[in-house]
Amino acid sequence: MRSQSTDDYLKALYKLETEEKPVSTTALARLMKVTAASATGMIQRLARDKLVAYRRYYGVRLSPEGKRIALRVIRNHRIIELFLAEELGVSWDKVHQEAEAWEHVVSTEVVEKMADRLGNPKRGQRGQLIPERDGAMPEQRDHVLADAAIGALLRVTEVEDDDAGVLQHLVSIGLGPDSRLEITERRQYDNLLVIRVGGKTEILGPSLAQRIRVARLPVVRRSKEKVV
Ligand SMILES: [Zn+2]
Repeated sequence: MRSQSTDDYLKALYKLETEEKPVSTTALARLMKVTAASATGMIQRLARDKLVAYRRYYGVRLSPEGKRIALRVIRNHRIIELFLAEELGVSWDKVHQEAEAWEHVVSTEVVEKMADRLGNPKRGQRGQLIPERDGAMPEQRDHVLADAAIGALLRVTEVEDDDAGVLQHLVSIGLGPDSRLEITERRQYDNLLVIRVGGKTEILGPSLAQRIRVARLPVVRRSKEKVV
């Protein structure tokens, strides 16, 4: 059986590969909050198990098998979070910690039963895309809020943050998956975004605006649809 830390390293590599390929040992060590030496030790083990390809001074890449495992663990995590929240009523700020532990030990059979019960969801609790049953990752088509146009009607698709404090703040201002909003101003001097959400004006800092993903609402509106 694979260890929990193997799974966690593969997940971290999958995440980093969306930004740079190959991944540097330094970036991996930073994300895993370990020294470069221990990250290198782990990478060498993963390379022996053929879960990554590694060349010193060049970086590390997931092998097809490493990627398959990473996507399976990510699917487990996101399905478990939804299941805990929706079927068991566990509060949304607690489900992440639970899922971090369960994702490694749950069987595929049980996770797929959870997915069936949930109606085979495509997105997780915070709107994250869920890898499909066969291991394919759907294409990300939305954008980062920080880059969105002023005046466009937007829908939140994902909040890329697991921090309970951040999530509580967003809930308190009415921002979560599926919320509608509009950027009214992008302040050049301090990089803050002024937005309208739920009839109120709110201000978002630049780092938060980087971690919220949005899609533009279609311009053509059906007559019955209400505008924000
Ligand atoms: Zn989580």
